[in-house]
Amino acid sequence: MSTHLSAALARTKLAANQGHSCTVAGCGRRRSGFHSLCNHHKDKARLYGDPLGKPVHAQEYQDLILQVRELFDSQPDHLCLVASLKAVTAWTAEAAAASGRGQEPFPGAEEVARVLRHGVQPREFLVVLCAFLVFAGQQSQRFAGRQAEDFALSHALFKLAPRPRKFTRNGESSSSIPPKFAALKHVGRYLRQLLAPLAALTRMAVEARDQQKQELQDGMRQPFVAPVVALLKEAQQTIQP
Ligand SMILES: [Zn+2]
Repeated sequence: MSTHLSAALARTKLAANQGHSCTVAGCGRRRSGFHSLCNHHKDKARLYGDPLGKPVHAQEYQDLILQVRELFDSQPDHLCLVASLKAVTAWTAEAAAASGRGQEPFPGAEEVARVLRHGVQPREFLVVLCAFLVFAGQQSQRFAGRQAEDFALSHALFKLAPRPRKFTRNGESSSSIPPKFAALKHVGRYLRQLLAPLAALTRMAVEARDQQKQELQDGMRQPFVAPVVALLKEAQQTIQP
């Protein structure tokens, strides 16, 4: 087939695709290019790993960050913690060593190097990532799927340092540059697998503490129940003729 003919065919196919609506249920917008999604959902999928993905705000797992930091501080020699820290430290060092050389050793390495340069230590990486993984495990309905979770995990890490910004011609800063799709996809998936054992142990420890707290609170209430019941009975008897 001549290039002229194949170009004409491509244009026809493109026009046919753009004539259809986006595959997201309830979305009536036209598809974008050869994509099965409209521009709006394509942007969401690119940034959140799913067309129905939503951002997760750090406040949502802030309490967990505090709990996990305290937990790790209380058991600095825990074997799983030590091994995970060693692995994450080596991984961040690899990213930092290659930074600025144009060739990333893995997708997202430049993002990891940026967070490190901002002064965030590998140990803090572990705290935030494990807190996020505990949060994601407890709130799995919050995510459209595994990939959406991975993307959110990458965002949790990448936003530990301010995002690089685009600059306008007169040097004024405008909007921030979003992380690349490949970086969000690779880093989240890699860290989820790497930290799975530590995240599982952390979740168990956090939930055991929550249960202990709950039992303690219930225990505090207990002694007051019996006297209250007795008082109510007494009151009922006095009301009766
Ligand atoms: Zn759509």
